[in-house]
Formats: sequence, structure tokens, C-alpha cells
Amino acid sequence: MKWVNQTAEVILERLETSRLTGLSDQQATTRLERYGPNQLQQTEREPAWRMFLKSFKEPLIIVLLIATTLALASALYDFNVTGDRQHAMASVYEAVAILLIVAINGGLTFYQTRSAQKSLDALANLRQHHMTVLRGQTWKSLAATKLVPGDIVSVKAGDFIEGDLRWLKASELQINESHLTGESDAITKTVDPLAADTELGDQTNMGFSGSMVVNGNGIGVVVATGMQTELGKISGLMQGIDDQKTPIEKSVHSLSKKLLIIAAGIILLTIGYDLVKQLIETGAIAIDSLAGISSTAIAIAVASIPDAMPVVLSIVLTIGAKMLADSKGLVKSLSSVETLGATTYIASDKTGTLTKNEMTVTRFLANGENYRVEGNGYTPVGDFLGTDGKPGQPDDYQRFLEVAVLNNEAEIKPDDQQNWRPFGNPTDVSLVVLAAKQGVKRDALLEKSGDHDIDIIRVIPFDSTRKMMTVVIKEDDKYYSLTKGAPDVVALRTTHVLLGGHVADISNAQDHIDQTILDFAGDALRTIAITQREVTEKQALEATSEELERELCFLGVVGIIDPPREEVKASIKKLTAASVNVVMITGDHDVTAKAIAKQLGIIQSDNARVIVGRTLEKMSDEDLAKVVMDTNVYARVTPEHKQRIVKQLQKHKQVVAMTGDGINDAPALKAADIGIAMGINGTEVTKDAANLILLDDKFTTIEKSVESGRTIFSNILNFMRHELTTNVAEVLSLLLGVFLITAPIEQVTAVTPTLTALMVLWVNMISDSLPSFALGYDRPESDLMKQQPRNTQQSILANGMLRRVLVRGGVMGGLVFVAFVWAASQGFSVAQSQTIAFLTLVFGQLWHVYDARSANTLFDRNPFSNSRLTLAVGFAATSSILVTLIPFFNHVMGTASLSMGLYAGIIVISAIPTFVLSGIKKLVKRGGRQRRDWDVAEEE
Ligand code: ADP
Ligand code: MG
Repeated sequence: MKWVNQTAEVILERLETSRLTGLSDQQATTRLERYGPNQLQQTEREPAWRMFLKSFKEPLIIVLLIATTLALASALYDFNVTGDRQHAMASVYEAVAILLIVAINGGLTFYQTRSAQKSLDALANLRQHHMTVLRGQTWKSLAATKLVPGDIVSVKAGDFIEGDLRWLKASELQINESHLTGESDAITKTVDPLAADTELGDQTNMGFSGSMVVNGNGIGVVVATGMQTELGKISGLMQGIDDQKTPIEKSVHSLSKKLLIIAAGIILLTIGYDLVKQLIETGAIAIDSLAGISSTAIAIAVASIPDAMPVVLSIVLTIGAKMLADSKGLVKSLSSVETLGATTYIASDKTGTLTKNEMTVTRFLANGENYRVEGNGYTPVGDFLGTDGKPGQPDDYQRFLEVAVLNNEAEIKPDDQQNWRPFGNPTDVSLVVLAAKQGVKRDALLEKSGDHDIDIIRVIPFDSTRKMMTVVIKEDDKYYSLTKGAPDVVALRTTHVLLGGHVADISNAQDHIDQTILDFAGDALRTIAITQREVTEKQALEATSEELERELCFLGVVGIIDPPREEVKASIKKLTAASVNVVMITGDHDVTAKAIAKQLGIIQSDNARVIVGRTLEKMSDEDLAKVVMDTNVYARVTPEHKQRIVKQLQKHKQVVAMTGDGINDAPALKAADIGIAMGINGTEVTKDAANLILLDDKFTTIEKSVESGRTIFSNILNFMRHELTTNVAEVLSLLLGVFLITAPIEQVTAVTPTLTALMVLWVNMISDSLPSFALGYDRPESDLMKQQPRNTQQSILANGMLRRVLVRGGVMGGLVFVAFVWAASQGFSVAQSQTIAFLTLVFGQLWHVYDARSANTLFDRNPFSNSRLTLAVGFAATSSILVTLIPFFNHVMGTASLSMGLYAGIIVISAIPTFVLSGIKKLVKRGGRQRRDWDVAEEE
């Protein structure tokens, strides 16, 4: 049926619903079953088996498959040509073992990925859109997916419309439907029936799923949900979670590629070298020496690919997202986890984020007299004391208070414990409380008493660009437009003042008013001027806000206290120590802003620069760019200015996090590197535009998120350091074997590799990758928030990472090789010599992991602070010794059992490189730090 040409009554009846009670919960449940959830069909999630197979596309797996094929080919050769059955079976085992290790690793990875995916899904659920719905006579906020046809919903500026609606009430309601019509201007909505053939774009009495409320408010009845909506009809499938690669994933990917090319080069070189050597020495190439050469080549191939890295990386990032959510920061994509850690500027709204948003009027000016307001919180009790310290005359501020509550949609109500609770905009609540202290109440004013009658005709809501709110009333047979707003904005439009019940010219009173406003602001009070204007009936009904908000008559001004949040001070201190700049952005008066910024430690002195919106407007981008780096307070700005501030900071290569709550903030949030929305008080539109949602609206959560971002990034560096060191050590020990062992040593031939391919595989996939995962859970290092933010332009190998990996890996590889040669020269068998090399590597790395997990040195962290790591290391150590003892593994991996003394000796000796290198670094660093301090002193 068509909805556009029906009256509201017909539609409501048709949908068996009521605009007074809404649907009952019972009705809603039945309808939800019938119509399904209110969502567009999702793209199908990749099935588990496909995800599993996908992990086999990695280069390492390809190398391993080649290795398996080679092993099988060599087995075939032995069976058929040489007839060496034993050697043939060994090759078959080798092939089976490779596949087994790959399968175990695949399973582990798959399990980790799946659980990571699950926590991501859980996070995605947390950030569903919500709507205000009337169910069983009460208004509730429900997840948009629960909406059913017949639901009565209420919307206001900043909401998304979910499902198609027919409007029942529209008050200055303007909606952006560009996603359906391409028309970017907002459309003003109406409630009356229209012709049945009205085009979609002209159906002003309808609301469509996916559109955005940009102004006013309205009530509508849901007529279609899910795929039945206009959006559902045209949209194909909705995109699932954003799984784009993060910058670091991309650079790891390209690093892996480079390593692959280097590895290929090394392999070709060793094979070539071996062949040429043989040719020169013997004049021919023996077939079975080829087997030795190819097994070395395979070992090198396996050794040089940091195979676990991409997987561990994406899992560590996911662990990070979960970690953030636990501290009340919800990220939408893994890249934000990474970016957060590099944040250099946090531009934060003042009201509600830096302050408590618990507003109380403490002072006001009315009828030429200044008053102090007594009483605390929302309890409507307290006297107004004049400058003489005596209670004022109610007549002097009666009209002022009436207008303050009429131009107002907030309320206070007592709860069960008789505590007063605020409802609505906190600024407006403070005015309601103020008026109630004198018994002036909105409901009472609107009730007809005798022949006195007031009706509200229009509401033009507050908006942070206009910084005013206007309500038009009919009072008996007169019409008044009531305007309240930022005093300096309103001041430009006031021509008169109400004194002693008479309207007078404002010029004589102006100085006193201006001085009072400055006084209030200097005391960190938020100021609002209250005015009225008599208008004609025609103006009352038709004039635009622009036309109504002029020639105003000044009634008074209030000073509102909004105390700073206690914990913010500490957060700002911490961020400053971490070289993250905190910038306050507010619509409030510059003097108010400055006073609060100083209380919070955002600025240190009264001389700090404050830029106000008016000045900003006159500045060119170049002018702004010059001062933007050291301006910490912006006042009387509009949301449009925020975007400019972000852009200019970004010009200086700064990583900017910006908060926002209103609909107009969305573009600035999109422009910022990290857009931050308020989870409780933010609009759906800003939440949609944001990268990070603060579930508790607290500034401290931003600080914690930055810390988590840094922690995660340093954990990533830690495991990369660990993995790459392993690769360097493995490749080096093998290469040293190829190039330095030119003649047999006792039982060991010249072509025997230092480590077998399977030993290398074991180290990469089991004994090394488990501790790597565990590093992802590490807590921050103690000095993490005392360092400079990371430079995003720099390669991950910069800042000594490459040197550290090469030095540690080099020493470790050397030690492994020395252990091998020593064992061989002692007359140990091939298998035993290789096992000694293998265990030296395994334990060398298990020691090293404790060094890798610190940006500084091994001695700077408590080794047992990460219980997962302790477990992983314990497991890796035990299982690696077990594979030298169990015959099956001896057979396939080429390991052999050793004496107790040897095991103990290896464990101790393999610790030496880590302790020595870390020790040297610690000493050097101490010297270095002194020198650096001295350098700084020199500069100053
Ligand atoms: P912020 O969020 O930074 O505090 P706003 O845009 O909310 O800034 O407010 C800017 C100014 O607009 C305030 O200083 C106050 O003077 C005025 N103002 C705020 N809320 C209201 C309101 N509900 N009605 C009228 N004026 C308001
Ligand atoms: Mg605000």
C-alpha cells in the first residue's frame, strides 16, 4: 500500500499501532519474527574452510610444498634407481613431517584468527545505531535492528533514520536524503498527505532509511524495515567489517616480499657455489650430493621467510582492539589502533569531555542588578542574593526566569530516593533549576489560568554554529519570540533592555552588561543571555530564525559553572610528558575557556594564545598554519572551524585526534586522523564518522587509548624484533656452514647443513611463534608514556631496529655455527651435532625473547610480568627438548638425544649473547643518556 497519500490516522490504524502507547513488547516480538531484523542483507562471511585454505597462500607454504615435492621425488628416485629403501623412507617421513608441522601451525593460526574475528564482531555489535522508540507507553533507546513496522519513533538532529517512516509530527524537521536522491540540501519535512504519485524526492511527509536528521525534531511511525525500505530496494548488499590492511600490515607485507627476494638470491648463490665447487674439485656433479645441496637450500628458504609475521601482526592488532574496548575506547578498524599510538595532537571539546557537564547557574544579572545564586546540584532550593547580600525582589527577575524556562525543553524530576534528576540538555537544565528555585515552572506557565494563557508555537533548536535557541510563543493575544544564546552573539542583536518592567534603549545599560559578562567568564563561568521580542502573528508563524533573532530586548544573563573533571588534570600531565599536545576547542567565551584551560593545565599562563572564531574566520590558511602548532585554546568556534584546525595541523605532518558530539562535527571527525565520538552524548552521525568511540565520554579514555595504541605498536615492534632475529640467526648459521666447512670434520661431511630444514621449520612455527603471540599481550613498558610519539613517516626498521636485529641475529647465528663445529670436532654424530646447533638456537631465542620485549634492555622489565609468555616459553623449551628424545621426531627431524650435561650446558651457554649484548647496551645507554642531557643543556 502507498503511505504518502494517506492520513496519519489511516496509517496508524492500518499498522495496528497508537501514537500514544506505541506497540506492546508482545506485538513487537511477533512482528520481529514476521519481518525479520531491520537491516540490509549482509555480504556473506567467508566460510571457515576457505579462511583456513587461504592461510596456505603465504610464500612460505609454497616453499614448503616445493620442499615436500622434492622430498617425495627423492624418495621415488631412491626406491626406483638406487634401491636404498631406508633413505627413501626417510624422505617420505620428511614430507609427512613438513605437512604435519604446517597443519599444526595452520590450526593454531586459524584458531587465533577465528577468536580474533569473534571479538571484532562483538565490538561491531557494540557500535550499532540506536533509535528512540515508543514501546509499551515508554520511550526507550533500542538497537535499530529491533525496529518493526508500526513502531513509533522520535528523532532529533544528529540521528540516523533507520527504516522508512511516515511523519506524525515535524518541528523544524530537516533531513538530508542525499544517499537516495543525490540532493545535498536538507529537505524540510511535513505531516499532511500528498498526492499518490509524488516522487520519492518530494515525499516530504515520509522519512527514509539511511537519511540523517540535520535540524529540528519529529515523531514518525515505521512503515517498512530492512530490505523492504527504499534503501533496501536499491542497495545491493551491505559491506561487512572494514578489513583493509593497516599501514604497518602493508609495510610488513612489503618487507616480507623484499626478504623473499633476498632469500631467493642467497639460495641461488649457495646452490651455484656448491655446484661450482664440486665441478672444480671433482670435475663432475654427483647425483647424491645434489640431495645434500637441495636440503641445505630448503633449510635456507624456510629460515629466511618471517612466515609467522603477517598472521601474528593481525592478531596482535586485534588483541589491541580488544584491549582498547576494555578501557572503554571502541575502535572501528585495526588501523586506528595503530594510528592512536602515533597521535601528536588531541583536540578536545571542552564541555562534557574536559568538564563534567553538570551545570549550575551561580550568578546572574537581571533588571540591572547582579545576583549570587545559593544552593547546590539539581535541587531547586536556594536564595538569590543581591549585591547588598540580601535576598532580591522576585518581581525584578520574574520575566527573566519565565523566558529562561519557556525557551527550554529540559526538565528535572525527583527519582525514588527524592533526588532530583536532570533530563535534556545540561545547559538548559541549569536554567530550569534556577527558575525552580523561585517556583517558576514551565508546565505551570503553559497551563491556562483564568484568562492568562501561553502556548508554544515554534521551537528553533540550539545549534552550535548560530549559538542561539529561539522559541515563539503566543501569550494571550500577543506573540513573542524568545531568544537565548551566547551573549556576544546575542549582544550584536539587542537594541533594548527590560528595566523595572519597562522597555528602554540599551545604550545606557550596555557597559554594565558587557562588564558583567566578562566578570562571569573570568570566573570560568559559561554565559547565556536571555532576551525576548514582541512580533506580529505573521512573523511568529513564518519568519526564519535569521529574521526573528534581531532587535532583541535584553532580559538578563546567567553565569553557569561547569566544573572540570577531576581526573583530566592527571591525564593532561601524562600526555604532556608523552609529548602529545592537548588542545581545547569550545563554543564558550574565550575568557571562560582560558580560565578552565588554566585550571586543567592545558595552558600555563594568562598570556597563552587563545584564538576566537571571529579571528579564525579572518585568518587565511597560511596564517593559521603559522600559529596552529602552538595554540592550545580555541574559543567561540563553530564546528566548521574545527576542520580547518585539523587540516593545518596535518600540514605540519601531525597526527591529529579530534573529538566531536554534534552533527556538524562529522566533517572534522572525518578529516582527523582519529575522529573521536562520544558514546553516551554523541549523535549517531558523529559516531558513524568517528574512528574511536568513547563509551564513557571521558577525556581520560582518550589518554588511555593513546597509551594502548603505543603499547600495541611497541608490542608489534617487539615481536618483529624477535622474529627477524631468528631469521637472521638461522640463515647466517646455515650460510657459515656452506662457506666455511669445506672439508669433512670427523663424521660430518662438507655438505651437511648446520640445521635440518625441519629443525628450522620447528623453530619458526612452534618454538618461536608461540612466544611471539604472547608478546602481543604485554603491558606497556614503564617509560612508554615518556617518549616522543612515533614518527609515522619512518620505516619500521628505523631507529636502530635493523642494527639491533642484525647484531643480535648475527651473534646468535655465529654461536649456533660454533656449537655445530665444536660438536663435530668432538666426534659427535651428524644428528647430534645438528641437535646441539638446534638447541643452541632454540634456547638462544628463548632467552632473547626477554630482550626483544623491551625497547631498552632485558634488565628493564620483570621477566615474569606476562604469564602467557612464561607459559609459551615453558612449552617451547620442553617440547623442543622432547623432540630430541622421542624416536619418531629423531627420525623425521634428524634430532638425536644428548647427555644431561649437554642439555644443561646448552641452556646456560645460549644465554650468553643476550646477557652480554643487553649488558653492553645498558652500560652504553647510561653513558649516552648523560651525554644527551648535556646536549640539551647546550642547546638551551
Ligand atoms: P561547547 O560545546 O564548546 O560548550 P556550545 O556550542 O555548546 O559549545 O555552546 C556555545 C555557546 O552557546 C555557549 O557558551 C552558550 O553561550 C551558548 N549555548 C549553549 N547551549 C545553549 C542552549 N541550549 N541555549 C542557548 N544558548 C546556548
Ligand atoms: Mg555543546
